[in-house]
Amino acid sequence: MYATTPVLCLGPVETPADVKALRALAYNVAYELGRPAVWVTDTDHTVMDYAAVYVTGDATSLRDASTLVLLGEALVADMDIHEPLAADEVVTCDCGLVHRHTRPVVDAQGVVWCANCLGDDACSWCGEELDTEAAEIVESGNGFYPVHAACLAGIRRDASTSRLHASA
Ligand SMILES: [Zn+2]
Ligand SMILES: [Zn+2]
Repeated sequence: MYATTPVLCLGPVETPADVKALRALAYNVAYELGRPAVWVTDTDHTVMDYAAVYVTGDATSLRDASTLVLLGEALVADMDIHEPLAADEVVTCDCGLVHRHTRPVVDAQGVVWCANCLGDDACSWCGEELDTEAAEIVESGNGFYPVHAACLAGIRRDASTSRLHASA
């Protein structure tokens, strides 16, 4: 359905505020990385379907999360698990993209490279390179998908089609 592998966002989902924080993380990760970010409230997911894991809090805050088992599976699978950045870890790329939730690549010269400047970002729909500033972030189900404005129609059509199938 989508051209790029999403990342998985995990965190406590016991209260509406927890869910709001998790959803916000997914949106921001999708924006900063230029790739799909999916957040989940149950364990009916395969962590290997995702490229990396982002969490809303440290290990202690996740201890009672109902989705903790997914974090365990990600650890066992040796996946990249990204904890939240501290306030003094916020980094801005030369292009202006601010990393509040993800860590950009910093090369040997100390130069910051965001996914956009590296060309690592991609439209979730067509797979072509994306310009983060011009990207649209589409919410579909529990995921946020960065797409070209021109690809919006395609992703919306597909999303409504899959809903029809699901209810049939
Ligand atoms: Zn940049
Ligand atoms: Zn596209």
